Amino acid sequence: MSNTKETVLEINLPHLTHNFNYLKSKVKSSVKILAVVKASGYGSDAVVMAKHLEKIGADYFAVAYTSEGILLREAGIKTPILVLHPQPVNFQKLVEYQLEPSLYSSRTLEEFIATITSLNQKNFPVHIKFNSGLNRIGFSENDVDHITEQLRKTDTIKIASLLSHLAASEDHNEREFTLRQINSFKKAAKQLSAKLGYTPILHQSNTSGILNYPEAHFDMVRTGIGLYGYGNEAKFDNELKPVAALKSVISQIHELKPGESLGYNRAFKAAVFTKTATIPIGHADGISRQYGNKKGFVTIKNKPANILGNVCMDMIMVDITDIDCHEGDEVIIFDETTSASKIAEQSGTISYELLTAISPRVKRVIIDKN
Ligand SMILES: *Cc1c(COP(=O)(O)O)cnc(C)c1O
Repeated sequence: MSNTKETVLEINLPHLTHNFNYLKSKVKSSVKILAVVKASGYGSDAVVMAKHLEKIGADYFAVAYTSEGILLREAGIKTPILVLHPQPVNFQKLVEYQLEPSLYSSRTLEEFIATITSLNQKNFPVHIKFNSGLNRIGFSENDVDHITEQLRKTDTIKIASLLSHLAASEDHNEREFTLRQINSFKKAAKQLSAKLGYTPILHQSNTSGILNYPEAHFDMVRTGIGLYGYGNEAKFDNELKPVAALKSVISQIHELKPGESLGYNRAFKAAVFTKTATIPIGHADGISRQYGNKKGFVTIKNKPANILGNVCMDMIMVDITDIDCHEGDEVIIFDETTSASKIAEQSGTISYELLTAISPRVKRVIIDKN
């Protein structure tokens, strides 16, 4: 008998521990683990994730924006927090909350030095991000001299790490490109370290880098999706356990006669007798309209039920013609058996997008025992 009574996102902490240990087993024991908890811990709950990960031994955290780091500090997280993509407008706040910026351009480096100088700080830890081929953010190899010049003028900052990011570590067809990225980062890191006179922590791998490129583990690895239970490949998915499970209930059942329509814009028209269930979850909860019109499905009594017609803001309607179910019965959107990556793939996206879209409106339920 299920005890799901409304739409909930269950967050399974023993699964998080399992994934953390699995990923840790893939790197040498000296390699530090940075846990990426941006985007509300990939749609789960950043504070709950970070508190648990801090307890089980994460060495570092990363978020995308300053505001995400502040939330963790306010919740009492003490572990160092790297802000991957800060904006200069937030530098003062970032320092106030002892967050560590990734500086990715001359502009961000110079503005950070200006802020930190005005705050009279010494040796504040910062991270230098190199672009090794993703062409998103980061210094180029040619900027090493400029970086060194800026650093020579000040003792306000200290380089805690050098990092870069892989563009296609999950794609085995891009192996050559990825190896070039690894070499490019190695070269830039070596040049800058030589000029600094000390070697900061080096890190380049995301989850798929951990799993596919031991040569890119360096001193630390950054894992996001793997911690949440997805490995971007079936053989790794099988070793990991999804942390989040999205569940709901059947609110009401309708029977459509041939010719009757369903939902907004009458997007579904019944050709034959069709039984439908209405479920209290919609695009405002993170089930986007791309899942409508049979692109997505839910699971009821272990059977798939296609989403019929358009996804509404607060509801979806699904086909239960061949399923023996009742109002109040449990509905699985994704869980351990029907994974978020499977649902996402079916409608042309990836687990990352489906997970991070789950809105704050969905109640989070923490499961801390197996
Ligand atoms: C989001 C992000 C990660 C985490 O990537 P996963 O594929 O989820 O492991 C690592 N590094 C950077 C720079 C990121 O932006």
